[in-house]
Amino acid sequence: MSSTSIPEHDVLVIGAGFGGIGTGVALRRAGIENFLIIDKWHRVGGTWNANTYPGVAVDVPSPIYNFSFQQRSRWSRFFAPGNEIQRYAEEVVDRQGLRGKLRLGCGAVEARFDETADLWRVRTTDGAEITARFLVSAVGALEQPKPPAIPGIADYAGTLMHTARWDHSYDYRGKRVAVIGTGATALQVIPQLAAQAEQLTVFQRTAIWVAPKPDFPLGRLSHRVLDLPPAQQAVRLIGNVAVNAFLGVGLALSDYPRLTSAVLGAGEVALKAYLFTQVRDRTLRRALTPTYRLGCKRPSISNNYFKTYTEPHVDLVTTAIERFTERGVVTEDAVHREFDLVVTATGFQVMDRGATPPYPVYGCGETELGEFWDTNRYQAYEGVSVPGFPNMFHIFGPYGYAPGSVIPLIEATAAHSARVIGEALRRGATRAEIRREPHDEYFTRMYARNKNTYLFKQGCAESRTYYINYQGDGPAFRATTQLGMYWSNRHFPLDHYRYTTTRPVDADAAPRHAVAR
Ligand code: NAP
Repeated sequence: MSSTSIPEHDVLVIGAGFGGIGTGVALRRAGIENFLIIDKWHRVGGTWNANTYPGVAVDVPSPIYNFSFQQRSRWSRFFAPGNEIQRYAEEVVDRQGLRGKLRLGCGAVEARFDETADLWRVRTTDGAEITARFLVSAVGALEQPKPPAIPGIADYAGTLMHTARWDHSYDYRGKRVAVIGTGATALQVIPQLAAQAEQLTVFQRTAIWVAPKPDFPLGRLSHRVLDLPPAQQAVRLIGNVAVNAFLGVGLALSDYPRLTSAVLGAGEVALKAYLFTQVRDRTLRRALTPTYRLGCKRPSISNNYFKTYTEPHVDLVTTAIERFTERGVVTEDAVHREFDLVVTATGFQVMDRGATPPYPVYGCGETELGEFWDTNRYQAYEGVSVPGFPNMFHIFGPYGYAPGSVIPLIEATAAHSARVIGEALRRGATRAEIRREPHDEYFTRMYARNKNTYLFKQGCAESRTYYINYQGDGPAFRATTQLGMYWSNRHFPLDHYRYTTTRPVDADAAPRHAVAR
């Protein structure tokens, strides 16, 4: 560790996905220019860089899956493929002038707050140390792949691939392929694999609620319409409300349990009717019907997922996997199946110790953030900041995300971070720390709201949802509307933070930085 007390940067942003890019733009808007964005990958785009499995596509309409400050009208489809979303991330970096702020191929290994100098020291994968006054962790919540905990997996001698680490050099045409998992990712990859594989076996532990996908190519006419700012704004507003409602209505309505139950019940009837139109075989339909309430875990959309199971070379196996062998897997009914390729579509470690964020963070008194959360439960004011970890902000923190498109979350928490950093620089402060009282008030309120939702009250216990973490809490979401998330991150009193300095602060002194509030 170096002994420098002058940081190289005002702000270091970890992650060059949509979160890091949105943060860079928010910092610029606040008049902050001395910042660096690092990322372990060699391209920007975060999750859209990591997830390149066949069939990857956004499952939020693309006309709303873009930043409010750089809307894109020229999408190829209503639900664009993943590589197009990654290209959009590159376009934003270029248009917003962030290219020079990037250091790619440089991941964070450890972050440590230097209490004597009020700065963060971040060790990186290239062996360097970067110092910054403020640290923004823009590492996505769906970042660390979660391998299935199945005995013997290390013995398997065929090809094993997690969907978030797809090996494009492997040719799965004509092969015997297995997929473990039936979440939103599996639902996209399964039809693609079925189209090329000789034999496809899907191991389902928990069925997924699926709605039809209103997908279609966007041609010249729609591009022209979407070029018009009023049309863009209208689509953005309607689209965000619809996605927020689809993914989070039950959570936001936690104060009205009867209404929640009625809304979810109506949704379940509609989705069962959709399944009925896709699969005529009653046994197969029953196997594909979730036994938990709609909304307990993330539903998704597809027009070909259910139909894939009606193809003769595709099998759905609902008997649990007992173990891997060298050549395949054995299920609990002692059936041994052999495969050339096993795809683990088993998701990510969400709000798990050591995964959120995926590097150790030492705050005041050498307290490690993961340990702090493990002992005291996951918590962060507005999902952004934690007492005892000054000058640090999270874009995807606990109790931050009101289910819906992730873009409004990023814009809200990035605006929050930039407001506080801007205020600290304006005051000439070297430390900004969330005060204990507003933090505790937020945490207590959100914790109680989340625990009051149907997630914890009715029908979700068996669903194995990642909305509930290993502690039995629901820090992956906040039970409010996205409007509430938008508003409170932009309007919380700035004095909810304590601003101090290693030097005495002269409140009347001219600002050191000309920054916007
Ligand atoms: P996921 O929702 O966590 O699903 C993982 C699947 O793997 C589940 O079906 C799970 O079964 C299964 N599984 C895990 N361990 C298993 C085991 N040992 N044996 C059998 N099955 C096992 O992960 P995901 O599908 O990757 O989706 C994660 C998130 O990514 C989504 O919720 C969504 O937010 C995001 N996503 C977004 C898009 C987009 O276009 N925007 C697309 C795909 C994904 P259980 O349910 O029984 O645990």
